[in-house]
Amino acid sequence: MEVKILSAKFDIENSHKLEVAKEHGAYATLEKLFAMEPADVIEEVKKSGLRGRGGAGFPAGVKWSFLPKDTGKPVYLAVNSDESEPATFKDRYILVRDPHMLIEGIIICCYAIGCHDTYIYIRGEYTSQVRILQQAIDEAYEAGYLGDTVAGRDFKLEVTVHRGAGAYVCGEETALLESIEGKKGQPRSKPPFPAVVGLYDCPTIINNVQSIASLPFIIDQGAEAYTAYGTEKSAGTHLFGISGHVEKPGMYELPLGLPVLDVLDKVAGGVWKGRKLKGVIPGGSSTPVLTAEEAKTATLDYESMAEHGTMFGSGGIVVLDDTVDIVALVKNLIDFYHHESCGQCTPCREGLGWMLKITKKILAGGGSSEDIDLLLELCDNIEMKTVCVLSAACTMPVRSYLNKFRHEFEAYVEKGASLQAAGIQG
Ligand code: SF4
Repeated sequence: MEVKILSAKFDIENSHKLEVAKEHGAYATLEKLFAMEPADVIEEVKKSGLRGRGGAGFPAGVKWSFLPKDTGKPVYLAVNSDESEPATFKDRYILVRDPHMLIEGIIICCYAIGCHDTYIYIRGEYTSQVRILQQAIDEAYEAGYLGDTVAGRDFKLEVTVHRGAGAYVCGEETALLESIEGKKGQPRSKPPFPAVVGLYDCPTIINNVQSIASLPFIIDQGAEAYTAYGTEKSAGTHLFGISGHVEKPGMYELPLGLPVLDVLDKVAGGVWKGRKLKGVIPGGSSTPVLTAEEAKTATLDYESMAEHGTMFGSGGIVVLDDTVDIVALVKNLIDFYHHESCGQCTPCREGLGWMLKITKKILAGGGSSEDIDLLLELCDNIEMKTVCVLSAACTMPVRSYLNKFRHEFEAYVEKGASLQAAGIQG
């Protein structure tokens, strides 16, 4: 089931070093790239069906074509390497095991969109990743792959690494831009969208690390070679980080479209300790949960996840065995998003706090059935009423747990009520 496109060099010793990466094909696409017209590169990427791998799944080539033409302003590329979604750990592999694939992808993207300045916005906690990435960038400058004349061509490209300060919300594209500009990392109201008014008010493309790293294969082998993997609407491969209650957690590159349970059993070794499956978080903490029953018919692609009322997300799959306390899980989930709220919008800043208090009350045995309904009502009142989707990244999964595992919340309520009736504090 596993394939090796993005991960082709991951197991090679010192693959982060230019000399080793070059031995295994790094920068080999540049000859072909510079023989193409930029518009043809965009067309090839559109044909490949590559969708944004940060979670939104928007087609990359289409996004590039939203850039306004002839504005007289510079065009920027911001590579989103903030990777702070709980359960998501795919981009860090690219950063440390094949940073030259990312740099090569940046060159391809910049040539296509007419960009000469790229910022890689990287999660502040990624200390070793920053060090290895910066070494690779330095090597690329020294070898002439970056700088005034990329690979000896009349094409200038500067790449700057910008470290975040540890805020999850800076993975939101406009908060990321604010942070690069040296301001507080708070999302902007949209429209205008970054393709039109982005970094320093200039047209800007923001793409995820994995999206950019997919480009060398697409240009080298052609769009058809890429669409040979995956499904018609969800083409190519994806790095899946599988964690939680499985025998073999880890990072696996797989074609899109595989059945969820096949991946859990054949790739990740099945639910650990012979236990039963309770649920699957399909793509990071912000994606609504699938029950064990729903997981039987779901496949790992954008369309199947939407049909199952959830999202493909970031490829961070979490497996929940039958011992998982869903109410405690929901408390942790809300705690995280409440902590990470930037505070700009009242429904997010205050509403997530109320949700946390109510969930803690239920966990402590002091809740009622009305409190469970109130949590659902809060989800409805918060969602889509804020500047960015951080609040929805909390309410959407919480609603799924409340609806699919309501009996576990009710069990806490009943246990608390019987303890109180017996004169015992819950
Ligand atoms: Fe900030 Fe939350 Fe509003 Fe997003 S939804 S802008 S994180 S307050």
